[in-house]
Amino acid sequence: MIGAGIGGLCLAQGLKRAGIPCTVYERDESPESRLQGYRLHIDALGIHALLEVLPDELFARFEATSLRPRPTVARYDEQLTLQAVVDFPKPGVNVNRMTLRHTLLSGLDGVYFGKRLTRYESDAHGVTAYFADGTTARGRVLVGADGVNSPVRRQYLPHARIEDSGLRQLYGKVPLNDETRPLFDDEMHAVFSMILGPDHTMVGVAPVAHPEPFMTCSVGLRREAIGLSDEELAALSGERLRELALQQVDGWHPRVRAMVSSWVLDTAFPLVIRTSVPLAQWDSSRVTLLGDAIHAMSPAAGAGANAALRDGAALAAALSEGPDEAVANGAIAAYEQAMTAHGFAAVRESAVNGRHFHGQDPLPV
Ligand SMILES: Cc1cc2nc3c(=O)[nH]c(=O)nc-3n(C[C@H](O)[C@H](O)[C@H](O)COP(=O)(O)OP(=O)(O)OC[C@H]3O[C@@H](n4cnc5c(N)ncnc54)[C@H](O)[C@@H]3O)c2cc1C
Repeated sequence: MIGAGIGGLCLAQGLKRAGIPCTVYERDESPESRLQGYRLHIDALGIHALLEVLPDELFARFEATSLRPRPTVARYDEQLTLQAVVDFPKPGVNVNRMTLRHTLLSGLDGVYFGKRLTRYESDAHGVTAYFADGTTARGRVLVGADGVNSPVRRQYLPHARIEDSGLRQLYGKVPLNDETRPLFDDEMHAVFSMILGPDHTMVGVAPVAHPEPFMTCSVGLRREAIGLSDEELAALSGERLRELALQQVDGWHPRVRAMVSSWVLDTAFPLVIRTSVPLAQWDSSRVTLLGDAIHAMSPAAGAGANAALRDGAALAAALSEGPDEAVANGAIAAYEQAMTAHGFAAVRESAVNGRHFHGQDPLPV
């Protein structure tokens, strides 16, 4: 399998439980090498997937490190006037992404870091993966769990499209202590809270409990509002990112500005938000995909990781009779049909939410 993210590790746990050998190759040097966000909201479908794949002690660890927030989303204007508190349609838990990834890594043997896949070759009996370090590996089935820029998808489904959503996020963490706690209303200890300003600029906050309590605090905005190329944005220091974030909330309520000012500088990073474009079913084979590698979406519905977890558990079930059997008896094809149905539905839902609240570009037709 290629990629030790949320979905790939869920699959690896499910295969371990089913007694099917599996090796995971991950490009990053370690789980901490790259920042992707600090909080994930895991809903009932994601929790169910984890229950299916994890041994009891790891599921208990997932529960113990999760926070059950108010099951609501609060919406404020930029002067912090509360506009609405609505029930979140898919209530669940807020987790620290890194903590979840470590829980999912626990007890797995064959996970290799520093292994970047460059291409693969498949034949009637299996698939050979080629890595940037010159090594190869061979297996019966290759799973691309390699995220939005998936090299597996690019080779396997070259017609699949990934588009810029038009949205950017500047991300930071605010530790919760005596000084910062008063910045956040009780209503903000919810699934997610949006402080919406003009031109779709938004400050988003959400609580996380592990390893210590903190608030994620992001500034979301349209690409044009930044005035920098994505390369220039990626090169900014934490200090410059915070300055840029503060520029976006100039004139907003002082408490909102104080939230952004309270970012721990080395936790700040920028994100370019991309989305997949739903595509028609393809003929199945010994190569398959899961999660963002096939149905990447903007975070506007809080659905991507849940979909990846669901895929991981479903593909583990499909492969549980053995990989050759799953190819021959149509289990991979059935997995792909169900996976694309729910995955692309979530892509569409995210695009609609993203358009409404954040000015996301419409999905191309
Ligand atoms: C700011 C933000 C907030 C979000 N909040 C939520 C939320 O609240 N709830 C939710 O459900 N979803 C959320 N999402 C979406 C969620 O993060 C993703 O959908 C999820 O991480 C997808 O999991 P994955 O395993 O498919 O991909 P990833 O977690 O991206 O993992 C892919 C892995 O593949 C590796 N890889 C890539 N290329 C190669 C290669 N060539 N060789 C080897 N390895 C490779 C990568 O290094 C990575 O480790 C959010 C996303 C963002 C950006």
